[in-house]
Amino acid sequence: MARVRKVRLDELEAPLVEPFETSFGVERRRRFLVVALEDDTGETGLGECVAARDPLYSGESVATARWMLQTYLIPRLLREELPTPEAFFAQARPLREHLMAKAAVEIALWDLHARRAGTSVARALGGTRSRVEVGVSVGIQPTVPQLVRRVGQYLDDGYRRIKVKVKPGWDREPVGALRREYPDLRLWADANQAYPPSAAREVAAWATEFQVEQLEQPFPERALSAHAEIARGAPFKVCLDESITSAEALDEALERHALTSLNVKPGRVGGLATGRAMGRRAAEAGFPAWVGGMLETGIGRSFNVALASTPPFVFPGDLSASDRYYREEFVDPAFELGPGSTLRVPTGRGLGVEVVERVYRKFLRRRREFRRSA
Ligand SMILES: [Mg+2]
Repeated sequence: MARVRKVRLDELEAPLVEPFETSFGVERRRRFLVVALEDDTGETGLGECVAARDPLYSGESVATARWMLQTYLIPRLLREELPTPEAFFAQARPLREHLMAKAAVEIALWDLHARRAGTSVARALGGTRSRVEVGVSVGIQPTVPQLVRRVGQYLDDGYRRIKVKVKPGWDREPVGALRREYPDLRLWADANQAYPPSAAREVAAWATEFQVEQLEQPFPERALSAHAEIARGAPFKVCLDESITSAEALDEALERHALTSLNVKPGRVGGLATGRAMGRRAAEAGFPAWVGGMLETGIGRSFNVALASTPPFVFPGDLSASDRYYREEFVDPAFELGPGSTLRVPTGRGLGVEVVERVYRKFLRRRREFRRSA
């Protein structure tokens, strides 16, 4: 009978290559948790938690995820037999919300089970691609010329799809400038809920005028009607991100025609199995799904890339190369941008890449260990 015999809960903090600004605020350093599950054969599975220091993207934070993990999720793992990722998620269902905390464990279980089976997480998930197409997400910049220059650098690096963060007062002008400078650019815009539904007409006007391919989460999480309204007949896709926290939320949004594209972040939805199911649901509904990112290090990124290698994920993900976010890479080999704006899908056991201990320890701030009682 397989069991988890030890769980490590690490807190790390690493500086970002450059400040990342969205309509929520600016991040300069990223603080995050990593869960490591060790089974009784000494095999270890890792999961990076995407909850940030402050509860801005959602209600979760490093503090709430730590509390959820050490109060409920870890004690259960240490009491019972080793669950499959799906069984773990089902068992944790009565505990409401806290999807980022649950996802960290669910992902670590994918890693652990794949290692035990001698395969990669990508293969375990049913991945079929050896490379996945990716784009880059560009934060709000101090000035429009700086944005245009920054985007130019990413295009020079080889990225073919650019997503810019927008908010009231930082939209028509920067988006228009990019369109003028780069007439053929595959351009997406993400507002992270920053507009009131009353701004719909104005938002639709610049998105149409500057041929934005996809507009992401312009309105608040619960404003499904406003998203449905702007999606109706729009020449651009309307993508939901923050609104879609569960399979049920996706069903409701589909019923209300509130989206024509879906951003799947395993951390936001409770893990890889739910993420994969959502991708399939979007494909059935006839629109594209793609894998988003939450400033993960190479550890979390490897799982996102594995998910993106499965068939439903047909739009390029926000899964940039390692050097987009961190100067020192946490995994070896690092994720490098390859031909056609792609990243290679790791094929090694489990997450498929090795953690660079030196870098990991350098940014490790706090460690707690939990053991199964004999
Ligand atoms: Mg988004």
